[in-house]
Amino acid sequence: MNGLDRKTAVVTGAASGIGRESARRFAEEGANVVVTDVDEEGGRKTVDLIEDAGGNATFVEVDVSDSESVERMVDVAVDTYGSLEFAHNNAGILTGFSGIEDITDEQWERIVRINLKGVWTCMKAELPVMEEQGGGAIVNTASESGLVGMSGLASYSASKHGVVGLTKSAALEYADRGVRINAIAPGPTRTNIQSGLLSRASESPIPMLDRIRTAVELIRMVIQTRRMNFDTSAMRDVPMDRIARPEEMAGAVAFLCSSDASYITGHTLPVDGGQAAD
Ligand code: NAD
Repeated sequence: MNGLDRKTAVVTGAASGIGRESARRFAEEGANVVVTDVDEEGGRKTVDLIEDAGGNATFVEVDVSDSESVERMVDVAVDTYGSLEFAHNNAGILTGFSGIEDITDEQWERIVRINLKGVWTCMKAELPVMEEQGGGAIVNTASESGLVGMSGLASYSASKHGVVGLTKSAALEYADRGVRINAIAPGPTRTNIQSGLLSRASESPIPMLDRIRTAVELIRMVIQTRRMNFDTSAMRDVPMDRIARPEEMAGAVAFLCSSDASYITGHTLPVDGGQAAD
């Protein structure tokens, strides 16, 4: 990818899944990476993977819903590597199926605080630094659920629709100020958050206790879905007939940050095996 070498990227939610692969991809492209997450052990593992492959990375424990820790993330990037050109604001949670009337205030506030407010909090800290140093590129992680409604996943879908709107608005504000802002909308991707549950259940290196927990969680979700008569369009067929690998999201992030995407801003790119076309 053009234009990533010797620059600096921050990635939130980089202790696993899409964020980990995004961090690894930035490093493969020659960027210094600030790996951030609430999960210190997973975050340090990501740093080890990058360093073992010859890249540069540092870990900062960050809760994206806490503006002070997000500001520290940006400070560490600039203090350690001298600049901040790229950000992948990716941290997010999915809390499972719930009817509108069953979502508690606490569940609603938690999902919106992390998935939506967290992206705003990150951009608020990143944008002034990028503008002052002459430019940058940001990619936010939305979701296919940010483009279409998802029965039983209203709070998640609402938070991700918010990320799409926030991305467009920020892109307009910064279009003539040197910072491009886009989002990706992943379809079902093999990570801990969703379909990874299924694959983990069938993979042998997973300890037996984890496999039992995974199986129980899956059964619980299926029963809940059937009992509540939810439209399971959330898991509707993928035209490419497979779920995504997190590396495929990382490729889209690297492209959107690269100079090959120099005239692209304000867009949400579905990376979904064709689902959005259906
Ligand atoms: P994941 O669970 O593997 O990764 C999410 C990471 O975010 C975890 O490491 C977690 O510790 C971290 N995190 C959670 N709350 C945080 C907080 N408050 N502050 C900082 N970090 C926090 O799952 P993933 O699939 O890699 O998820 C990454 C993003 O992709 C999320 O925003 C998710 O909504 C989105 N997404 C995933 C899928 C999918 O099918 N996997 C589909 C669409 C969108």
